[in-house]
Amino acid sequence: MMYDLRIIHGQCYIDHEFIETNIYINSGKIAYIGPENFDALETIDGQSLKVLPGFIDPHTHLHLNIGSTYSSDNFFSGSQLAAYGGITTVLDFLDPIYNNDEFNKVFSRRLNEASESIVDYSFHCTFGNYKDKFKALLPNLNEAGITSVKVFTTYSDSDRRCDDEKIKEILSENILMMAHAEKDELIKPCSLITDYEASRSEKAEYEAIKKLLSSRSKSSKLYIVHISSGHTLMKLNDTPNVYFESCPQYFYLSKDLFLKEDGKKYLLAPPLRSDESISLMKKNFYKLDTIGTDHCPFMLDEKMIKAPVDNIPKGLGSLGYAFQLMYSIFGIEVIPKFTENPAKIFKLDSKGYLRVGMDADIALIEEGKFKIESSYSKCDFNVYDGIEVKCRVKSTIRTGKIIMQDGKVFNHKGRYIRRAYEGNN
Ligand SMILES: [Zn+2]
Repeated sequence: MMYDLRIIHGQCYIDHEFIETNIYINSGKIAYIGPENFDALETIDGQSLKVLPGFIDPHTHLHLNIGSTYSSDNFFSGSQLAAYGGITTVLDFLDPIYNNDEFNKVFSRRLNEASESIVDYSFHCTFGNYKDKFKALLPNLNEAGITSVKVFTTYSDSDRRCDDEKIKEILSENILMMAHAEKDELIKPCSLITDYEASRSEKAEYEAIKKLLSSRSKSSKLYIVHISSGHTLMKLNDTPNVYFESCPQYFYLSKDLFLKEDGKKYLLAPPLRSDESISLMKKNFYKLDTIGTDHCPFMLDEKMIKAPVDNIPKGLGSLGYAFQLMYSIFGIEVIPKFTENPAKIFKLDSKGYLRVGMDADIALIEEGKFKIESSYSKCDFNVYDGIEVKCRVKSTIRTGKIIMQDGKVFNHKGRYIRRAYEGNN
């Protein structure tokens, strides 16, 4: 038997343990795992490396249209950056829709934009101030293979807030609702950066989450994106069908950065928090189901404009560095949050595990002392540049193709992943 690719002598992450074994790949799938020695057209020596399932970033904003500009990374540069960081699948978003008729158009446009991606990709549907009957959209979502929808509880100023009754209606259907949770009524307009964190307070986040939790029916599935506050996370309990995501920035960057001369470049929503909040994030890390990056960088001159804070583009990038950053704080505890958890929650049935029959999506990790170095992002600054980390990604394999090795990216195109839909059961 001749395989396409083999990874030999690696420490392979299987059933939450590391086992030294060999992985054999054929036609993009994991075909065999075992100590035996078979031939392959290509071999990667995994000696002294950790062999992990390829990472899944459930929250990216590539080529995001914010009206005045686009986020700096498109699907080509963003996916190269993802590959650099061991990420083999990204879940991005459709533009917010306001009625069901808009769905097909935004879906086909985003599919077209994403076709240059070198990692696999899928989309969440996003709602603005949506008024249509949600049930009527379900067949379209089903056909598109979309199993998750996102709402905002805030941003009424840009007409993106989804009202409370509509949120209840969506929560009553058999689909995963992702929510940007900040209570709109508690958010204050903000002009000065010194007021920014308080203008979108930790309380505003917590109150919105509390309300979402109380809006659920028995079968609802709810996913809270980018939890920013340790004081919030501390108060959240493990609840069936409720999932929590946070991002590297809420562990690495504090609100003091807003006070620096170049503080505007750190602006994002929800804001960075206090050191106390960060330490509570770390203490309650075990409560998080996933780590997303919310990758949404803008160029320095787009962030440093002389304008009220409310008019400055919000967002930061970490797509190529998320695993290294989080692994350096928490070690192997982070692995499921980058692999099997997002695969299960978002119904990426062929991903998330090193198992025969699964897509051959694999990240090889070298432990040691390294520094974050900027790589494939088109953004002209990286707030993590120079930070010391405890590992680097040596190789990234996506459906059996080597798409990154020793920092060099190879442009094999990824695929759109149609996710499985259960219907009403
Ligand atoms: Zn986001």
